[in-house]
Amino acid sequence: MQSLEAALLVLPDRVASGRLLIEGDRIAAIDQRTESRAQNTEHTIRDAQSKIQNPQSKIVLPGLINAHTHLEQTFMRGYSANRSLLDWLKNCIWKLQAAMTVEDVRLACALGMVEALRGGATTVIQHFKVPVSPHYTDAVLQAAEQIGIRLVLARAWNDRGANAESPEAIVADFERLYAEWHGAANGRITIANGPITPWRCSGEMLRRTVELARRHGAPTVCHMNETRDEVAMTVQETGRRPVEWFDDLGVLGPDFHVIHGVWVSDAERELLARRGATVVHCPAANMILASGVAPVAQLLRDGVTVALGTDGPASNDGQDMIEMMRLAAYLARVTTLDPQVLPPRQVVDLATVNGAKALADAGLGRLQPGAKADLIALDLNAAHIQPIGDPLSAVVYNARGSDVDTVIVDGRVLMARKQMLVLNEAALLDECRERAAHLARRAGVTP
Ligand SMILES: [Zn+2]
Repeated sequence: MQSLEAALLVLPDRVASGRLLIEGDRIAAIDQRTESRAQNTEHTIRDAQSKIQNPQSKIVLPGLINAHTHLEQTFMRGYSANRSLLDWLKNCIWKLQAAMTVEDVRLACALGMVEALRGGATTVIQHFKVPVSPHYTDAVLQAAEQIGIRLVLARAWNDRGANAESPEAIVADFERLYAEWHGAANGRITIANGPITPWRCSGEMLRRTVELARRHGAPTVCHMNETRDEVAMTVQETGRRPVEWFDDLGVLGPDFHVIHGVWVSDAERELLARRGATVVHCPAANMILASGVAPVAQLLRDGVTVALGTDGPASNDGQDMIEMMRLAAYLARVTTLDPQVLPPRQVVDLATVNGAKALADAGLGRLQPGAKADLIALDLNAAHIQPIGDPLSAVVYNARGSDVDTVIVDGRVLMARKQMLVLNEAALLDECRERAAHLARRAGVTP
């Protein structure tokens, strides 16, 4: 039994002080009586306890769920300035992706995982396009297995347009991934279906892969309605807007994630609500690529589940989920001109319980007995945070990813006192610097 003590615990319905007991990979109990501190010493295992210093300055939250990213893009930071989405994809990202070796991908993703953990994410939905062979996917999954993060690998695919794969190759790789990796590492690793965009996927393959995913209880995620141009492309091709077309195909459901959902019509919002689908809001990427602003407040009012993502480091330049919470709150306010919209608790929910709902995993996103022991502790004893008025406001509006002090996933302490315990971070940074420079030269791309 490990015991974790904190000034404040962000529980599902309130913020309270107390102690949280972890047994194996689960939260065993939450003791809100701070005075029991002395009596509970027999439960205190030095392991976790000794790693949390000054518990009186800590706030413990459920581990954040980054519902959309492309971790391999850590090697592609800094290319998005002055470029539109399509220019950036065609002239930078796709060229760099195509030039990556298996070792590049392993290192880039390991770096991304470390950055994700440091930014408070314990679960990451990694939308990953396989450049050449299954070895690439395996390298990412092995990195997750080793580092200890909870990873949903959404195997990206497109069966038309540039770098299309054959339907047979896509299905065969999914069969292999579901058989070999789905539920691996004590359930920390899962596989999901990741069609890239409506305009690069056929209706037939969308149906086929969603059916296959449903047989394995796996979600489907797709970049959709991100820019006006993309919506127009699908309308021109099918006569329907993307969400409408997907509904015609029968692929929308509670297991479906619309990544971005910036340009959704009233009819599309209504369809998403009716089908129980999730919209993954990626505020930084939408701003940096000048895509627009997702109507988050309206979606939530309509009953659509909204989760939160960073998107890849190339179209965000960061994996800080604390920052994403703040940006989501700012954007909702400035676009609705409503200061009441998205209060701090609702913002925290986007990054926790809503992400868990999107993954149909009630064991994630909550500090409660029986839930998975995925949690983070933030150090609030900082000049940019103190003195604290409302704790959740402090988390959303004052805290930064760099305030994350401790990260526990599946009951294992991955970071303590801001030190990564599971790898040599300095050596990883050195190796990544060198490799990324080689990659850019090989691909002939400059920022
Ligand atoms: Zn993306």
